[in-house]
Amino acid sequence: SESNGSGVESSYVKIPQIKFTKLFINGEFVESLSGKTFETIDPRTGEVIAKISEGDKEDVDLAVKAARQAFDHGPWPRLPGFFNQIQIIKIITGHENAKSYLLFQKKKKKKERRKIMLKFADLIDENVEEIAALDTIDGGKLYSLGKALEIPGAAEHLRYCAGAADKIHGATLKMSRELQAYTLLEPIGVVGHIIPWNSPSYMFAMKVGPALAAGCTMLVKPAEQTPLSALYYAHLAKLAGLPDGVLNVVTGYGRTAGAAITSHMDIDKVSFTGSTEVGRLVMQAAALSNLKPVSLELGGKSPFIVFDDADVDKIASLALQGTFINKGEVCVAGSRVFVQEGIYDKFLIKLVENAKAWVVGDPFDPNVQQGPQVDKNQYERVLKFIEIGKKEGATLLTGGGKLSNRKGYYIEPTIFTDVSDDMTIAKDEIFGPVMSVLKFKTVEEVIKRANATKYGLAAGVMTNDMNIANKVSRSIRAGVIWINCYLDFDIDLPFGGYKMSGFGREMGLESLNMYLQVKSVATPIYDSPW
Ligand code: NAD
Repeated sequence: SESNGSGVESSYVKIPQIKFTKLFINGEFVESLSGKTFETIDPRTGEVIAKISEGDKEDVDLAVKAARQAFDHGPWPRLPGFFNQIQIIKIITGHENAKSYLLFQKKKKKKERRKIMLKFADLIDENVEEIAALDTIDGGKLYSLGKALEIPGAAEHLRYCAGAADKIHGATLKMSRELQAYTLLEPIGVVGHIIPWNSPSYMFAMKVGPALAAGCTMLVKPAEQTPLSALYYAHLAKLAGLPDGVLNVVTGYGRTAGAAITSHMDIDKVSFTGSTEVGRLVMQAAALSNLKPVSLELGGKSPFIVFDDADVDKIASLALQGTFINKGEVCVAGSRVFVQEGIYDKFLIKLVENAKAWVVGDPFDPNVQQGPQVDKNQYERVLKFIEIGKKEGATLLTGGGKLSNRKGYYIEPTIFTDVSDDMTIAKDEIFGPVMSVLKFKTVEEVIKRANATKYGLAAGVMTNDMNIANKVSRSIRAGVIWINCYLDFDIDLPFGGYKMSGFGREMGLESLNMYLQVKSVATPIYDSPW
């Protein structure tokens, strides 16, 4: 561990020292082979927080070697999910007395996947404030959101997966011939996880949790904008007793370290979350190298549909949060708000009222609802979209620019109306606090328009009419439909995209399948001539 610099002070929270800045390979923090570093920036001010080791192809090679060794020869894939051997006979026949048997059990328990993962989760909980502060200085995330939701959520996610580690079973098959057959579910091997910057902690757990439970070994490449918490998690995993080489973290850029992962010949699976453009490159690199399977969680432009009978006060506030939460840097942001004509005017009044009361500022301030965008690039990109919206003729209802009284990358919550389906702001993912409001008349019309997008990640349907809710939720081509709620994630709720929002499902028990192989085993039941 080390320290080289810390973030800009805050009057609300003590900013932690930065302890981990190097790559984590085979259980050790090490410098990149090139010795190069990159700066991670505090978006509250634009100032440098720390210099982080810049991993590249040769560092990825080392991490893969460590993970391969840990997979092929290490204990992790072979450890039981849970040690529950009950040897009653040994105890009562005096082979072992009860006391030494209990000691034996205790020793074994240290060597189960579940136990180590639970310990990892407990360590995350014990350090929640420090990790939340890291995510805030690194990515501008609200400290309250990290501390109350994302980091405890990451720990819970690991616990959920730990609970599944001893329940990974194949099936006994009923065959058409005299064959005895069964399936084995085996860990897929060495996994490369590539994650984005918008939810570094939760994303880490979403990927690492099921892969660990399945018995895989892995390397994680966090986004270059937000490397700090991933390195901290590596340290905690080691403390929890995870064997060396099982979890490696290579910090660095996408086009170098990321690309080395996707095209590696000895990585068995890549799990990617990020933009649709890069998702395409990931799939291409996988195809051109060893045909590794990939799962992709990509962008979105999700419709949030409000019908005439909706409770205007409640739903206007929900719509606002659905777009502006985490400063709009949310892949499921419901940024196309379709409002039925009967309540359109009333709804707009309420939206503006709420947007004006929405507090932008220091993400450590407990009263603030929106911090700065993650970095200068995103900040400029979002401001450009706002300009395009104005130019293409949408009406700016509120917001529309940067926050003038602050130094960092802060943008006003922005709402456009009179948006038509073909405008850029209605089609492209902005990934910032920008909402487009669109008016509609009929159920059929809104289904058609909501589906007229290349994306299919999420949708919201706001109505008390069950017939409409059922019809719309079955007609929208998206991976998650929220009826009279939005952003209601749950560990048990599978999450993933349709269309160009990607494929594969994270969360839920479904997520384990992404890290397992099915092996079929068959043998004749008896000597049959057939
Ligand atoms: P990005 O695609 O630029 O980067 C994501 C990750 O990929 C980073 O770690 C980056 O370093 C890496 N990367 C970049 N180029 C690469 C390459 N050529 N090869 C391999 N890896 C590469 O995306 P971003 O701007 O960091 O994140 C925002 C995007 O992520 C948005 O489009 C958003 O919708 C999406 N997102 C999706 C989900 C989801 O679950 N569907 C969740 C969060 C974010």
